[in-house]
Amino acid sequence: MLLVVGVDGLGYYNLRGNLKPYFTFLSKLSEKYNTVKIKLDIGCSPINWTRIFSGQTLRKYTSYLTPVNPQKTKWRLIRRDELPVKFIWETHPDTVAINIPVVLPPISNIPDFKPVRYGIPLYINEFLEEIDKVKEAALKYLRKNKNVLCVFSTVDRLLHITANPIKYAKILFPLDGAIKTLITEALERNYHFIIVSDHGMQRISNELEGEFHLRTDIPGIRNIVKNIHQHDSFALYISNLDDYPQKLTDIYWIMRSHL
Ligand SMILES: [Zn+2]
Repeated sequence: MLLVVGVDGLGYYNLRGNLKPYFTFLSKLSEKYNTVKIKLDIGCSPINWTRIFSGQTLRKYTSYLTPVNPQKTKWRLIRRDELPVKFIWETHPDTVAINIPVVLPPISNIPDFKPVRYGIPLYINEFLEEIDKVKEAALKYLRKNKNVLCVFSTVDRLLHITANPIKYAKILFPLDGAIKTLITEALERNYHFIIVSDHGMQRISNELEGEFHLRTDIPGIRNIVKNIHQHDSFALYISNLDDYPQKLTDIYWIMRSHL
């Protein structure tokens, strides 16, 4: 059995460096188990989550949004049916998918999970809500002996808009705790686990707080207009499996061989 925990934006160097103090459990886990730094050609979430969960590279899929007019003043979200790939929970329908950001809002295949704010939490209460909901849903299906794939969007969204250590502490300690709960449950049940990210985050501003606006063209979607961190090109992989993935599509094949 397999548990996959995606941590959007938690790169290899973030866990080793600026975020290490907040991830005590994950840091210990990475000392004990097979930990791999994956050098990326592009630090881009839609392409990279699609690589991880379909094994395919959609090179043009660099944004969750597409313009609806030539002036590019109005945009819409790209839909799942526009992506010419099959995801692993579609070819293996017994597998539970929770909050997987291959599109926005993220995909889930269970009736009892709804993404928080289209998969883009930005306030402290929204981050905590997502952490708790993803954890509870994953735990529920682990206890039903299902293969479970889940993704926390937290690190990516949080570091885009802040470098404030008080906010890090409020949100990242609970995230580390949620991952600890899931991995502990999985190990007690003799599952294999994979922790994976799509890229890391690097500081691009000396300021502490970013800014975001509500979009006018897509109801409910907010745009980050001042970034404090941007994506870097180093993903993280930790597992109790012996494989050594060199690229994100390798992780798809590792999952395939253990489902
Ligand atoms: Zn990302």
